[in-house]
Amino acid sequence: MAANEDDFKKVISHAKEFGFVFPSSEIYDGLSATYDYAQNGVELKNNIKKYWWMSMVQMHENIVGLDAAIFMHPTTWKASGHVDAFNDPLIDNKDSKKRYRADVLVEDHIEKIREKNNKDVAKAAKRFGDAFNEAEFRSTNGNVLRREEEIKKIEAQLSEVQNNEDLVAFKQLIDDLGIICPVSGSKNWTEIRQFNLMFGTELGSVAGDASTIYLRPETAQGIFVNYLNVQKTGRMKIPFGIAQIGKAFRNEIVARQFIFRMREFEQMEMQFFIQPGSQMKWYEYWKETRMKWHKALGFGDEYYRFHDHLKMAHYADAAADIEFKFPFGFKELEGIHSRTDFDLTQHEEFSGKKLRYFDPELNESYVPYVLETSIGVDRMFLAVLSTALKEEDLGEGKSRVVLNLPPALAPIKAAILPLVKKDGLPEKAREIMDVLKFDHNCMYEEKDTVGKRYRRQDAIGTPFCITVDHQTLEDNTVTIRDRETMEQERVAIDQLQSIIGDKVSMTKLLK
Ligand code: ATP
Repeated sequence: MAANEDDFKKVISHAKEFGFVFPSSEIYDGLSATYDYAQNGVELKNNIKKYWWMSMVQMHENIVGLDAAIFMHPTTWKASGHVDAFNDPLIDNKDSKKRYRADVLVEDHIEKIREKNNKDVAKAAKRFGDAFNEAEFRSTNGNVLRREEEIKKIEAQLSEVQNNEDLVAFKQLIDDLGIICPVSGSKNWTEIRQFNLMFGTELGSVAGDASTIYLRPETAQGIFVNYLNVQKTGRMKIPFGIAQIGKAFRNEIVARQFIFRMREFEQMEMQFFIQPGSQMKWYEYWKETRMKWHKALGFGDEYYRFHDHLKMAHYADAAADIEFKFPFGFKELEGIHSRTDFDLTQHEEFSGKKLRYFDPELNESYVPYVLETSIGVDRMFLAVLSTALKEEDLGEGKSRVVLNLPPALAPIKAAILPLVKKDGLPEKAREIMDVLKFDHNCMYEEKDTVGKRYRRQDAIGTPFCITVDHQTLEDNTVTIRDRETMEQERVAIDQLQSIIGDKVSMTKLLK
């Protein structure tokens, strides 16, 4: 645990030191749970968004994009259920005065039990060596099975108190499990109460209830209210999808994990409109498709798992998360939700407008069902950054810090480095830069020794360093150094374009 916490601290300080993420308004000591993306961060973030957009919109003939306003008519949020039901259960520890989400306390408790099982598995694996069969061990070991039963029981209890919205029973569950506050170590808890996560503000200069509008807590509703406009003007046929990337705002109770949970964040959501009754087929399709998108980045399959929801949001009939192994454990990265016709039916009712689709195949009108995929850009950024960051032992007491980013996501694709700041080398390097910059985000750097410059590029994940030396002036060749292997090769300048293009292209990821 402590080692992981250390890893996480390293990620945060690396993000700051190398221009990825800064605390917001830092000169005023920052604003809690709010962060700014710096010069390298914004590039990485844009590349993540591009990877998502290409795979969703460009690669699917039947998915189109949208960019709806953050402000929406206030009735939207009554219809969607957010005014009444977008709450989290809040609990305080009276000794530490720390505030928690009650469901998160229980989930963390479950995770601790799971960790014990994982430890037993790891121990047994060590003892039995190659002969070890994990599946068999898990299905026969007494302690592991007992803990699995315990986990199932707690999960069932948690979903029951949540589904019944029974706050008294919820509190009882926390007491029964003997959950202690991680800060004070005490069980001295307050009652649980519901807390609405929406940020309200005033529209124009007239105060009062009628003019209260909300900063959207999800981008999805902008898609729902536009679905018929898009369907008609785009002549879309069901099944079809609408994809959107944009900011969302939630007044989170606890936001302590860097960019994992913020009050202002960005979502990439896609709503897929389908025939009623076909939702399970599409649910499975999108679960698989989205998992593939993640795994194509090449971090390793062990970083991902599905978590099927027992407690559904008020709109869903099936829901699963793709969880990612962050430095602080497996946590939700993306949600895949079967939202039924809940949202569109609600909007029909509250707006009094028909939101039906005429299906020429069935020769009938209906309110489509919706399958949603929803991922946080910032969480994805954290997943990528924390997994890519490595401290490599180079032997002979040497080491390097390297950001093993998938080249397609790297902020800078190539750094162009004149070996020395004289003899016409800077001019030659600039010439190369002037060619490459049309296709790739490149960086020119002449300060410090070449070794130091390599290290700096490693730390921001630049796939290639191109060094211009005296030989370059004679025969138009340069050395190109690969970030992963650290090997250098001498190549002709006119080969650079294709070497870099091949390595950093998104096509490979998308295929
Ligand atoms: P959690 O249970 O972690 O609060 P959620 O289930 O409420 O998340 P959704 O409503 O399904 O999240 O939102 C979809 C995605 O948006 C999440 O998978 C996550 O990646 C992202 N997200 C949600 N809340 C935040 C936040 N406060 N900060 C950053 N990203 C967020």
